[in-house]
Amino acid sequence: MKKQHSLELAPVGYANGISTQLAAKQAQHGNQARLTTAEKEAIIAEAAQHFGHFLNALGCNWQQDPNSADTPRRVAKAYVHDLWQGRYEPLNNITSFPCDGYNGQVFEGNIPLTSMCSHHHQTILGRVHIAYIPRQDGQVVGLSKLNRIVEQCSRRGTIQEQMTLAIHHMVDQICTGNIGVAVMVAAEHHCVSCRGVKHAGAAMKTTQFSGDYLAQNTDYRSEFYEFCRS
Ligand SMILES: [Zn+2]
Repeated sequence: MKKQHSLELAPVGYANGISTQLAAKQAQHGNQARLTTAEKEAIIAEAAQHFGHFLNALGCNWQQDPNSADTPRRVAKAYVHDLWQGRYEPLNNITSFPCDGYNGQVFEGNIPLTSMCSHHHQTILGRVHIAYIPRQDGQVVGLSKLNRIVEQCSRRGTIQEQMTLAIHHMVDQICTGNIGVAVMVAAEHHCVSCRGVKHAGAAMKTTQFSGDYLAQNTDYRSEFYEFCRS
């Protein structure tokens, strides 16, 4: 399958890529095209119908149970509007500003992460730390844009390794003229704590570096780790 545009690494239609419906819309109207409320409603209605069948297969008479009667629709809505939101919405255009000679790291830590593993559809909760180094004559982005990028990449089905790479790639593409990008993700996976081995408290850390963060003669990487700790 074809990648939709340069901000996306995962193929269209994959759990960690954009949805086939958004991709079809973008193919016609460009990368900023959005699904209408009615188009999202149609996705929710169809997904809800199939989730009802899923519950039937599990021996749940959901139509008779007052707590479950609307559950197929609730679940489908949660996927489209919250849990997999990043697959149904394009990232808003991000404006950048001249950095006026600043040439240190720009770091934002402890960005909350709520995601879902592609393998088991269980919650992933954690924190993301992001840094980049603008060129002295380069550009910086508004700080909350880094939070938006995390939302865009994490509100999908993910595996942490690929999500770390996807966040890194988006920051690298959007912070034009940067000379390095660093990303660390630390997260607890409910597919490890609630099912399978059932080990609560185990955490996974992943990092992705580029540019001057990988250079031998700089302190950027150790400074980044220090920022992550503080
Ligand atoms: Zn999993």
